[in-house]
Amino acid sequence: MGKPKILIIGAGYGGMMTTVRLTKELGADDADITLVNKHNYHYQTTWLHEAAAGTIHHDRTRMLIKNVINTNRVNFVQDSVQSIDKENKKVILKNGEIPYDYLVIGLGFESNTFGIKGLEENAFAIRSVNTARKIREHIEYKFASYNNDPDAKESDLTIVVGGAGLSGVEFLGELVDRIPKLCKEYDIDPAKIKIIDVEGTPLVLPPFERDLAEYAQKYLEGKGVEFKLSTFIKEATPGGVKVQKQGSEQLEEIEAGTVVWTGGVKASHIPADSGFETNRGKIQVTDDLRAPDDDHVFAVGDVALVFPAEGERPYPPTAQIAIQQAETVARNLKHLIKGEATEKFVYKAKGTVASLGEKEAIGIVFDKKLTGKPAAAMKKVIDDRYLLMLGGVGLLLRKGKLNLL
Ligand code: FAD
Ligand code: NAD
Repeated sequence: MGKPKILIIGAGYGGMMTTVRLTKELGADDADITLVNKHNYHYQTTWLHEAAAGTIHHDRTRMLIKNVINTNRVNFVQDSVQSIDKENKKVILKNGEIPYDYLVIGLGFESNTFGIKGLEENAFAIRSVNTARKIREHIEYKFASYNNDPDAKESDLTIVVGGAGLSGVEFLGELVDRIPKLCKEYDIDPAKIKIIDVEGTPLVLPPFERDLAEYAQKYLEGKGVEFKLSTFIKEATPGGVKVQKQGSEQLEEIEAGTVVWTGGVKASHIPADSGFETNRGKIQVTDDLRAPDDDHVFAVGDVALVFPAEGERPYPPTAQIAIQQAETVARNLKHLIKGEATEKFVYKAKGTVASLGEKEAIGIVFDKKLTGKPAAAMKKVIDDRYLLMLGGVGLLLRKGKLNLL
């Protein structure tokens, strides 16, 4: 029998870390490893709100895959996965198909618009380098047009953010850093700018520690953000959004030149559409991170659903859990190939830090609450730690945030 074929689909946090760790866990003769990804680069989704606001260039968030993986050990294929044929153990790509003995699904997330009318067509989502770049360009275009276009309206400068979860709040933090610079660049009076966040629940950052969430809310309000709480986006139109306050029958219209939807995410549609057993669109993995209906298939990151214990809420989809799952999956693939018993996945939650622009943040790290500059520094440490884990000191020096060079 030939070497087992391991195929990893998706080069996000889960897929990249699985690939890199596999090349350390296995020898060259142990398995053939193939990684498939839509683009020839890996991007840091956790930095995309910065690229979307234009506070960093999108190239800072991405790196060529061939510069991170060992291409002598891993066959990288740039292509788009269409479906998984689990009966015949092969993945169907736009331009061909690849057979596998073991598959790791790391296809990540898609924006969840919950079927809200007009959102797909009229709102942006922070989902990829392509979408982040489009948001930055769009906002800049609105500012550039304002003093040129005779039909330009003040509301063209209004930015509506849908949702005040972590993505929405982090994006607002970048916007309040960026907008004053855009005003200066395009000779626009800052008083004309409105940044409005619409959140369905009565709270900013609903699942977060209250004192930290209030710190974030106060900071952003101090920089000019208006929060419309207990208010749902009901429709997006070419000219803005229609919202409804809880308890009211009326729809209110907010005119805006830019609408960015950060109201939620869901798993890639591909596992469910390929016939995998799913729960909320995700593969509810076994203790060792395999699909319940196929023990040759692992799932990592946002496509995987893990419950801390029966009856509890599942872990939220984060890069942090994707990275930890990837480490377990790489070890479990080695165990299977060596005929050993697999390991249980145990999540070690280290905390959450949310940036509020370059110099502000909030967070809890190992149960310690942080705000302001220490939190902002911690966020950069977390970002840099990932780079170190993925590509060693070289990658950290090339891409890191702590300006080590
Ligand atoms: P992803 O990162 O989504 O990567 C999936 C990969 O698969 C991508 O490379 C994509 O191009 C590729 N792909 C998708 N479909 C196909 C296809 N059909 N064919 C081929 N390739 C495909 N989490 C944290 O822990 N900390 C944070 O600070 C944090 N900040 C965030 C900020 C923002 C703005 C957002 C949106 C999310 C943030 N998250 C954060 C959540 C985190 O980014 C996700 O949980 C994480 O990206 C999931 O990793 P993943 O490997 O499952 O998938
Ligand atoms: P989310 O689901 O956490 O938040 C979405 C928010 O939108 C919620 O507050 C919800 O009430 C609101 N909402 C939904 N529908 C609405 C509507 N019609 N009108 C108004 N508001 C509406 O989504 P997210 O913020 O994109 O986060 C996704 C995942 O990524 C989470 O697991 C999160 O933990 C993770 N994340 C982590 C970080 C970090 O650790 N710094 C940053 C960003 C995202």
